[in-house]
Amino acid sequence: KIQVTDLHKAFGDNEVLKGIDLSVQSQEVLCLIGPSGSGKSTFLRCLNGLEKVTSGTVLVEGQRVGDPKVDLNQIRENIGMVFQHFNLFPHLSVLQNVTLGPVQLKGLSKADAKVRAEKLLAQVGLADKADAMPHSLSGGQQQRVAIARALAMEPEIMLFDEPTSALDPEMVGDVLQVMQDLAEGGMTMVVVTHEMGFAKNVADRVAFMDDGIIQEAGTPSEVFDHPQNPRTREFLNKVL
Ligand code: ATP
Ligand code: MG
Repeated sequence: KIQVTDLHKAFGDNEVLKGIDLSVQSQEVLCLIGPSGSGKSTFLRCLNGLEKVTSGTVLVEGQRVGDPKVDLNQIRENIGMVFQHFNLFPHLSVLQNVTLGPVQLKGLSKADAKVRAEKLLAQVGLADKADAMPHSLSGGQQQRVAIARALAMEPEIMLFDEPTSALDPEMVGDVLQVMQDLAEGGMTMVVVTHEMGFAKNVADRVAFMDDGIIQEAGTPSEVFDHPQNPRTREFLNKVL
């Protein structure tokens, strides 16, 4: 569970997040939508401590991110993150990409890490690519490896920052399907996306961010079919 209270984040005098209140329950899928520059990525990065918040609190499973008494590495291990650009280790095979974290950070034996990685690669439809190098894979395949790599740390929460935005259109479906499977398996997820179909079908809740504020949040039906805020309506008119 994530609980965000009155979160502010400024870069110099540019106030990007202007008081965000949002919670994500265990096993909930929250899709975050909104225009470019509205602060979506900054918000995700505040959730796992990649950005230091200016004020307000972020609680992850009851622990405050940024609290000097709390081990940030431990919080990060509990939160998997998948980015637009997959950032696989180019000199490591697919299997090595997925086993590295568990071996180095979780102390798994190489054999156990390999068993876990093979299971995850099968789960994302890439059982036959374990020995491939990242550059030999399509963008969609690389992104699915990145998802398997994040899952190998057995996180309780997964954050996705526009995971399909850099992909050729024909690759998007496979990645969204993997994410939908994860959601149906009960993963707690925060997904920044421009894929409104995914948000409609998979999200439990949709939040619309604009100008550093959550302008509107609700079920997909509330936000997409009956938006209350004129800014939401204007945004949806542009993207739908
Ligand atoms: P997009 O849809 O284009 O990814 P976004 O909603 O994710 O946009 P952010 O990337 O969070 O938006 O950026 C919001 C604002 O914060 C922008 O004005 C950006 O210039 C600023 N910003 C983000 N990161 C930094 C940084 N490290 N230093 C300074 N300014 C930053
Ligand atoms: Mg962004």
